[in-house]
Amino acid sequence: MQPILTELLNLPGIEVENYTKVADRLILEVEAKTTKAKCPRCGEESNHLHQNRWYFARDLSISGQEVLLKVNRRQFKCKKCEKPFSEELEFIGKRRKQTNRFAEMIVQQVLHSDMHNVGKQNDLTDEEVWSMIKYISEKNLE
Ligand SMILES: [Zn+2]
Repeated sequence: MQPILTELLNLPGIEVENYTKVADRLILEVEAKTTKAKCPRCGEESNHLHQNRWYFARDLSISGQEVLLKVNRRQFKCKKCEKPFSEELEFIGKRRKQTNRFAEMIVQQVLHSDMHNVGKQNDLTDEEVWSMIKYISEKNLE
């Protein structure tokens, strides 16, 4: 665990396990602190780790450096259903390539500028910006 980086990251329940720097990007390896997750089918909690699944997601910059999270969305196996399932992570939606707070920040920027410029400033394509706007507006309707 990296206590200082975990505190700096400031995502509740999430720990920074490791970090590397590639070019101007800070890559933080993160994982949920909890050792169990709730099965979406039956609601039973499981602490039986099935496998680790890593993927990358963009997060808010730290001191002007782009931050990429290497997220472990673990798979657990439910004893009752006898099937594996992926844990839910509060800070990022399923199959999203950016954290929720990153997407919210982008949407705020678009409100004061335009999609294309916001994309350019944040090193994102128009499609990526658009997909975040859609994601956040749908999320706010939930
Ligand atoms: Zn189950």
